[in-house]
Amino acid sequence: MIKKLIGKIKRAAETHKKAATAALCALIAAAILAAVELPAMVTASTATRELPIYSVERDQKMIALSFDAAWGNEDTETLIRILGKYNVKATFFVIGRWAEKYPESVKALADAGHEVMNHSDDHAHFNTLSAD
Ligand SMILES: [Zn+2]
Repeated sequence: MIKKLIGKIKRAAETHKKAATAALCALIAAAILAAVELPAMVTASTATRELPIYSVERDQKMIALSFDAAWGNEDTETLIRILGKYNVKATFFVIGRWAEKYPESVKALADAGHEVMNHSDDHAHFNTLSAD
């Protein structure tokens, strides 16, 4: 059903590109929300294509909050302040070049109790890289 809808939206995109893009984004968001609500749907989909983990079974109601840091650091202090105000710890996935450029921000994140993890050195798109 979702494939049919995406096909219709793609055909409409030829004449109404912006509206179709917005509709496709809304559809993808709806599909992600449906997958989060119905974890079984994610499991069923993984038989044909590997998907990231969107949710895991938990007794408690909780979320994991993560941020990617690959560009500037102008919002990092604000994020640390806001997260601190609500006593929220998050995971920051930084790229190597960001860490080299903003070591004080990496230290500030760690000092504030956040988890600092890596998401590549230069933000390469792994599915387009060769095995070398
Ligand atoms: Zn990223």
